[in-house]
Amino acid sequence: MENRRLVIAVDGPAGAGKSTIAKKVAQKLNIEYIDTGAMYRALTLKVIRSNVEIDNVEEILKIMESTSIEFIDNHIYLDGTRVDEEIRENIINTKVSFIAKIKEVRQMMIKLQRKMAEYTNVIMDGRDIGTVVLPNANYKFFITASVEERAKRRYKELIEKNNENITYEKVLEEIKERDKIDSTRKIAPLKKSPDAYEIDTTNKTIEECVDEIINIIEGR
Ligand code: C5P
Repeated sequence: MENRRLVIAVDGPAGAGKSTIAKKVAQKLNIEYIDTGAMYRALTLKVIRSNVEIDNVEEILKIMESTSIEFIDNHIYLDGTRVDEEIRENIINTKVSFIAKIKEVRQMMIKLQRKMAEYTNVIMDGRDIGTVVLPNANYKFFITASVEERAKRRYKELIEKNNENITYEKVLEEIKERDKIDSTRKIAPLKKSPDAYEIDTTNKTIEECVDEIINIIEGR
């Protein structure tokens, strides 16, 4: 069963272009795309809405127990309501890594993610997909870009969404902070799986990166 399915793991730091690239690869190969960052973001949104501090682990776990997170037609639903836009707000960027480092939160997410990838051809992106969630994936990619380039991209995105109070320097700081928490946490830190292909997107277009991945998968 495992051999006949196509399972692709994509990891990398914030703003490297993972989601955009993975989504396009999914379209080209006609397979499912699962954005695991969106799941951590959805839980973070609920915690913020519940006015619970991000260091109150006990309350966060209580919230988690009564939370449903699911994808329907490539949209993310939190307790039955679509939250694609809300989870991209900058407040979530600044808090999500604190919630994602909680052991029990990761355990629950990993369980959900493995279930989502159980029977379908899938490309899943995140921080620990090739290392922890789907270690037997057929293909693994680690997508990177310089921190300045990643901050530039995020800044542009935020400005386009009318976040007028944000500065490039602030975004750069936030990305560095998120990288640090994601890569130094005890459980499932962000790191390249030894068997992953590394793709540096700094001076490449999205299309070039997508083609590079498709060529590897199709063995060209
Ligand atoms: O990919 P994205 O930037 O949306 O992820 C948001 C955050 O969720 C990351 O900074 C990280 O803290 C957490 N995350 C994680 N493991 C994953 C996916 C995301 O810890 N597989």
